[in-house]
Amino acid sequence: MVAAESAASDLLRSLGLDIDTDEMAETPRRMVAAYHELLTGPDVDLTTFPNTEGYDELVLVANIPVRSVCEHHMLPFVGVAHVGYLPDERILGLSKFARLVELVARRPQTQERLTTHVADQLITHLQPRGVGVVVEAEHTCMSLRGVRAQGTRTVTSALRGTLRDAAARAEFLSLAREQGARP
Ligand code: ZN
Repeated sequence: MVAAESAASDLLRSLGLDIDTDEMAETPRRMVAAYHELLTGPDVDLTTFPNTEGYDELVLVANIPVRSVCEHHMLPFVGVAHVGYLPDERILGLSKFARLVELVARRPQTQERLTTHVADQLITHLQPRGVGVVVEAEHTCMSLRGVRAQGTRTVTSALRGTLRDAAARAEFLSLAREQGARP
């Protein structure tokens, strides 16, 4: 972390900031700690269970918090994910969906890649009949700088397997849209 802190000091100084003040003396260390937290994923155990009840309808875990960092500006994007699947022989504990999203989110990336990555991880670990992921997020690189389009949300989706079929797709997307509706 020493190299990162001295690089953060150099960055702030080269931007013309005076960091030799009581208020900002610790800022390089805090910047590094904040990025470290944003970029370090939790350990996630994606152990699955046999689907002994034979549940074969849609499971939707809605409004999972998403915090990630855009790879173009290293600025945060923040929002929610709705993750659904149609079980086959295995099921996954419901809390694991939030842990998986958190794990995938903790790296610099695009929202598109985050969305497909969550879907692909579920296909790999769970081998369900279908998977759907919708992510809605506000990108601070767009709301705080550039076009300063505050309140603009970007929506991405990834559908796999039988959730690509017209009826299942419509059910999943309309449920996800209801969950995501804001006043
Ligand atoms: Zn960006």
